[in-house]
Amino acid sequence: MSIVGKMCSDMPGPRPRPELHRIAVHAASRSGSAPAPEFKHVLAANENPYDPLPGVLDAAIEAAGRFNRYPDIGCQRLIDALARRFDLPPTRFAAGAGSVSVIQSLIQAMAAPGDEVMYAWRSFEAYPVITTAICGATAVGVPLTDDGYHDLNAMAERVTARTRLIFLCTPNNPTGTAVRRDELREFLDRVPEDVLVVLDEAYTEFVRDKDVADGITVCREYPNVAVVRTFSKAFGLAGLRVGFAIAPEPVAAALRTTAAYGVSQIGQEAAIASLAAIDEVMKRVDLVVAERHRMEDALIEQGWPVSRSQANFIWLPIRKRSADFAATCARVGIAVRVLAEDGVRVTVGARESNDLLLATAAGIRLEHDQQSFSA
Ligand SMILES: *Cc1c(COP(=O)(O)O)cnc(C)c1O
Repeated sequence: MSIVGKMCSDMPGPRPRPELHRIAVHAASRSGSAPAPEFKHVLAANENPYDPLPGVLDAAIEAAGRFNRYPDIGCQRLIDALARRFDLPPTRFAAGAGSVSVIQSLIQAMAAPGDEVMYAWRSFEAYPVITTAICGATAVGVPLTDDGYHDLNAMAERVTARTRLIFLCTPNNPTGTAVRRDELREFLDRVPEDVLVVLDEAYTEFVRDKDVADGITVCREYPNVAVVRTFSKAFGLAGLRVGFAIAPEPVAAALRTTAAYGVSQIGQEAAIASLAAIDEVMKRVDLVVAERHRMEDALIEQGWPVSRSQANFIWLPIRKRSADFAATCARVGIAVRVLAEDGVRVTVGARESNDLLLATAAGIRLEHDQQSFSA
């Protein structure tokens, strides 16, 4: 039994809420998460495979020399830089310690116990955890379509008087599918205007499909749309924890109030320097997208049930074979992410890691030549 489980059941003393216990047990039972240090090729967390950009690293080191001081409480220079980049008023922005923390602040700001928070399922694993265990609200997970897209029609039908917040993860983690402009508009026209629709665009920089909705455009047009973005993926600042929301002004103000001091000065300076180096950042994103195409082509050629991803990862919906696939990868030093018995998510990494993943996947196919992988 996990330490948390043990504490909850037999030990006297203060007890965390039982919802948290359930989640700790669930997390401990997941296979393939939290890569151990012995993995040479970590393709499990959708991180950027490249070392920090020199100018960004310099900015972070410079800020580290002043860490006896508190950071800028409201991330003002970062927010001003973002406001200029997206041509929106700074009053619509709020930053936080990674977009997970921004998502948590959003749910806390909008949903009380008894209120409903809707999202597609399977999607980002933080949504149910934050909604139920941290905020005590009611989670409504609406199944994806069979090919892994948001079922926006079904989601619109599930809206009730208690619905406060709807997350659309686009591109969706883990399926890599993204919401199209036209279907999003149709959906937004059906959602009541007091429901906040949050586009979680953690992977937006990797999108190459021209029909995919862009949250910045949409949040200009609809007063009940917010966008959440992060510096963790395309920008490669995962370890520094910087994310932000663009939200209706009263919501953004609420987020700024609750997330004070959330981002270290090192993170703020690195994010500002990353925005200044956007051309170099996007060149690296192009390399990842080229590798994504190469991996997809190879995996499809090998016979895997892979569809095109708009993110920096590839989804293999291989059901009951997921754990075996991950175990074989682990034996050659590759960590991938298993999501229950739904599938395996493989991050597009450095070329060498990707080559090894492809060779390993080809070996698995050869071994199981006669068997169907999608069943
Ligand atoms: C990785 C990810 C995030 C970002 O997390 P950070 O807290 O910013 O590191 C947010 N949403 C989704 C869907 C993600 O996959």
